[in-house]
Amino acid sequence: MDSDDRLDRLRNRSAPLDMSPGEFRRVGHQVVDRIAELLESLPDRPVTPAETPNTIREVLNASRGLPEHGTEVGPLLEATTKLLFDHSLFNGHPRFLGYITSAPAPIGMLGDLLAAAVNPNVGAWPIAPMATEIEAQTVRWIADLIGYPKGSGGLLVSGGNLANIVCFLAARSSRATWDLQGSGLDGNPGGRLRVYASTEVHTWINKAMDISGLGTDSLRWIPVDEDSRIDLAALRDQIDRDLSDGDQPFLVVGTASTVSTGAIDPLSEIAALCREQHLWFHVDGAYGALAAAVPEVAELLEGMPEADSLAVDPHKWLYAPLEAGCALVRNPEALRRTFAHSPPYYHFGEVATNYFEYGLQNSRGFRALKVWLALQHVGRSGYVQMIRDDIHLARALYDLLADYPEIEPLTQNLSITTFRYVPRDLLDHSETESVRSYLDKLNQSLLARIESSGEVYLSNAVIQERFALRICVVNFRTSLSDIEALPEIVMRLGRSVDGELRSTEELSLPHSSPTRL
Ligand SMILES: *Cc1c(COP(=O)(O)O)cnc(C)c1O
Repeated sequence: MDSDDRLDRLRNRSAPLDMSPGEFRRVGHQVVDRIAELLESLPDRPVTPAETPNTIREVLNASRGLPEHGTEVGPLLEATTKLLFDHSLFNGHPRFLGYITSAPAPIGMLGDLLAAAVNPNVGAWPIAPMATEIEAQTVRWIADLIGYPKGSGGLLVSGGNLANIVCFLAARSSRATWDLQGSGLDGNPGGRLRVYASTEVHTWINKAMDISGLGTDSLRWIPVDEDSRIDLAALRDQIDRDLSDGDQPFLVVGTASTVSTGAIDPLSEIAALCREQHLWFHVDGAYGALAAAVPEVAELLEGMPEADSLAVDPHKWLYAPLEAGCALVRNPEALRRTFAHSPPYYHFGEVATNYFEYGLQNSRGFRALKVWLALQHVGRSGYVQMIRDDIHLARALYDLLADYPEIEPLTQNLSITTFRYVPRDLLDHSETESVRSYLDKLNQSLLARIESSGEVYLSNAVIQERFALRICVVNFRTSLSDIEALPEIVMRLGRSVDGELRSTEELSLPHSSPTRL
């Protein structure tokens, strides 16, 4: 009897996780309504509720055990939207100007929903025919947008770190003269493989050096000039010295542009050096590469199309919701050489791309859809306009700061501007040692105060050993009025933090005895 019941139930199976189309429609509309309300209310919300980890855990009821039984989906989604909307930091807020994290494009939100609905596994063409071709088209369009050569190839990955690492591994296997896949670094008949990057390179390089087996000691950190660009003479000298020591230089990383100040390495000159020395030229353009779409700044990125490989982040200046990075290589075969383990004859019959042979992942999600949709939603002209506006807003802040003697503008590149707060009575003493360290402490506390205020969100940079506040505009919702509000916020909170610090700290500052400083 029991087993008859079971067979019956299996024949008319109703799985607890499934939803009827009617229910899906009802709760789906409800979620979309909530998201629309969020978008509408963003400007009136704090950028962040700035709650403590304990508060968040309490609200979540973090210690609650795994539920034994299910719950009704409508109320569950309702409670979840409330949980997230009331206790999150919103990088889609017009006043989110911290880090290089973009506001998410609404079309991208819908794209992710649609991608999950079809759920193609974009590891292999036969199981993701349309999705694979959409990804290939997306990669071609990104290359086209930034002037990377036709005939290049690549794939979408989780972000800038992975895009850079994929390119790095492609460089390593392309430059190895022995069977690297088979014998690893032990098979290297020559000297130590050497990599070159400036001291401003992003931290992905440490991970790449480590997981590639080269080790971080094989990286040559090249100093930068006062504008944070790699020192070409020092680079050339180091390569010459390593060659004469019997090492094998094989890769130079140029950054376009740096995370901290947006500085762009002299790419054309590095490209020429790499050509002359037969080195692989990789550009980390996770943030800045997309600025090449804007005609009047493209010049700054001259030389970038000459790179053997290039990392770009659609989840930065293409405003894709997280995650989406893109690894581009001049010769797509470099990726197969690195990541494919099928015998070459397999490849001869290949009429379509199986992405599992081009990168680290096997099963792969449909990241491309949100990017592909956004590229069509606004087209090249839409992106040029948004990226240009972001750059103009960051420049506008820099110019505006001239009217505020207590705010010292420090750097301006692309859409990154750095500055710091200097109380009026310290203006003439900012190079004095005790004042320098006080200003670092003051600006550090000020940043924490600004962030927890929820009024605006900034991040920081270190500029010539000074602690600086930093904005990075990769946010199509930010307007000039948001930028214009910033100096007043910095002044108001700056004065208050300064007052508090001076009342609690024993500091010999010029307001008590200026001549001692
Ligand atoms: C953002 C960034 C990275 C890291 O990218 P993720 O997407 O955060 O992994 C690397 N390099 C540069 C220059 C960047 O701006």
